[in-house]
Amino acid sequence: MKILVQKYGGTSVANQSRMQEVARRIVRCQEQGHAMVVVVSAMNHTTEDLIAAARRINPNPSPRAMDMLLATGEQMSVSLLAMAIEGLGHNVVSLTGGMSGIYTDQRHKKARIARVDSQRIMAELGKGNIVLVAGFQGVTPEGEITTLGRGGSDTTAVALAAAVVAERCEICTDVDGVYTADPNLIATARRLPEITYDEMLELSRLGAGVLSTRSVELAKEYGIPLVVRSAFSDDGGTQVVEVSVVEQVLVRGVTLDSDISRISVAGVPDRPGIAFGLFSKLASEGISVDMIIQNLNRAQVNDISFTVAKEDAPAAVQACWAFLESIGGHGLVLQKDNAAKISIVGTGITGSTEVASTLFGTLFESGINIEMISTSEIKISCIIDASEGEEALRRLHRAFSLDELELR
Ligand code: ADP
Ligand code: ASP
Ligand code: MG
Repeated sequence: MKILVQKYGGTSVANQSRMQEVARRIVRCQEQGHAMVVVVSAMNHTTEDLIAAARRINPNPSPRAMDMLLATGEQMSVSLLAMAIEGLGHNVVSLTGGMSGIYTDQRHKKARIARVDSQRIMAELGKGNIVLVAGFQGVTPEGEITTLGRGGSDTTAVALAAAVVAERCEICTDVDGVYTADPNLIATARRLPEITYDEMLELSRLGAGVLSTRSVELAKEYGIPLVVRSAFSDDGGTQVVEVSVVEQVLVRGVTLDSDISRISVAGVPDRPGIAFGLFSKLASEGISVDMIIQNLNRAQVNDISFTVAKEDAPAAVQACWAFLESIGGHGLVLQKDNAAKISIVGTGITGSTEVASTLFGTLFESGINIEMISTSEIKISCIIDASEGEEALRRLHRAFSLDELELR
């Protein structure tokens, strides 16, 4: 059986006519000889609306209660899409994450898939059904509903593709591939016909929301052929591959993440164990920390700065104050919310001194101050003021000639 896993995002099933179009497309793929497993996201802004509705009832709902609510968004779209396919006279079954055998750990709102039991899906395919699965959700072994974090339907799709040994996994969305920058911010951005797992992983981590980071990690780990393509057109597409043989460019893309806060813990004693104590405290609260900088300051005193996702900032600040208290109350916690991270990504870029000097030179010429820098083998990131984020993105896209990239 040749199994194709497709995933349709929120805008692709935003209303009745789009849903019907997607239904026809799925049926066409089945008629071309594929056994179809289709993962669906919640319609358009449903997840945001559910979050807002929850906040109106209780500003701080429990993660379990949130998951009960958020999972309904995908349940609604998967049911409606099944009805659209029934209307076309095809056999179809809609399943929740739990019904399709997606088991996760207990971490509500950011659960990790621990195991996929594909028996039910395989049985339904065996009966000739198109199988529709609600994205972004699973169950714990105790049967509690969990969700996988924002963008989690991509993760569902790749995990299912691995479990059913699919031919490939297609992420069908509102853009026709992965671009050199977010095409909704940079009009001259170019579609990349091919990108490596590692480059895609970096782009996702650094804010290119077109694929969830976990989905790319899973695709790389299980060697799943992954394609990003338009939900409505057969043209274009980006293949995510192990090794790219397309054009030899150094910088593959530019990303902007405006959803971050910078936190500084100022005036902590300069002695062994301080960084360990601080970051252990943050880790014990489940807060992921990104860039870290420590400045040697005045005599015997250091400042440590780091970045976190904006939504984690209040908890991080609280954890920092608690840490300062535990070491005798020295120091201060400062928070800057209007920070943004601008990054360039490409295999081997840190091996080229020219790339770094073009990056820093472009920001300098644009009068943009760099607050923090971090590098890895395939990326360079700078923290800048959020008000200058889009300007920096545009200037860097041009400086690295990404709008002129020759693509086949
Ligand atoms: P879906 O609802 O289908 O999951 P998302 O909104 O999660 O769609 O992801 C698609 C969006 O990702 C695009 O509309 C685009 O604005 C954004 N995006 C950010 N960076 C990139 C990039 N480098 N290439 C393509 N799209 C990008
Ligand atoms: N509906 C969820 C979200 O908005 C999951 C997804 O769309 O992938 O994050
Ligand atoms: Mg998405």
